[in-house]
Amino acid sequence: MSINTNINVEKNLSNINQKIKQAADKVERHVEDITLIAVTKYVTIERAREAIDAGITNIGENRIEGLLEKQAQIDANVNWHFIGTLQSRKVRDVVNEVDYIHSLDRKSLAKEINKRATDVVDCFVQVNVSGEESKHGLDQTSAVEFIESLADYPKIRVCGLMTMAPFVQDEDILRSSFKALRALRDEVKNKELSHAPCEYLSMGMSNDFEIAIEEGATHIRIGTDLVGSELKR
Ligand SMILES: *Cc1c(COP(=O)(O)O)cnc(C)c1O
Repeated sequence: MSINTNINVEKNLSNINQKIKQAADKVERHVEDITLIAVTKYVTIERAREAIDAGITNIGENRIEGLLEKQAQIDANVNWHFIGTLQSRKVRDVVNEVDYIHSLDRKSLAKEINKRATDVVDCFVQVNVSGEESKHGLDQTSAVEFIESLADYPKIRVCGLMTMAPFVQDEDILRSSFKALRALRDEVKNKELSHAPCEYLSMGMSNDFEIAIEEGATHIRIGTDLVGSELKR
């Protein structure tokens, strides 16, 4: 039984899956190539469990405490994604607990991940394609050189790129941000760097995931529309 009758995770998931299918069909993509990450940062462990019971197999958190807490209390075979800003001094707490890090954006962080990881870590390099000052991530012009320089760190594998689009409704602005990330992904991928296969595109949230899928997203990160945001302050 749901704690909050306003939220029906199962129904939300089925709506989202339908929208994913429609967006994918529109551009002749396969839904199997799109991974839905349930972002549980603003919800309880119970709510995260509801998502897993409904079929979710990927969970994203933006705080280390939140991720470790949920991980400790959720006994299910899910992939854990760290999607928030990562402070270098906290890398050791989380690096060996997650399957993916979506926020690699600087050399000092790469160095620390490399130092603390016991195995190779799949990382998305975060890029600020909108150029908004408030957003984390490398700017577009320095991303390629940065990724090339990561060859020095054997524990880091660049599996893809991640961005947060500007928080606007304007479809053209959103679309051009996603297009820019995709072009950058293609550029890196075409270099065939062994440490940076760079196949994935982590882009698209509740308000823009359909556009992101049309523009090639392989990983969409959805919180509000799927599990709600009951603990948001
Ligand atoms: C919170 C968050 C999301 C999910 O946002 P919603 O709008 O609630 O879907 C996705 N990505 C990142 C990096 C986030 O911090």
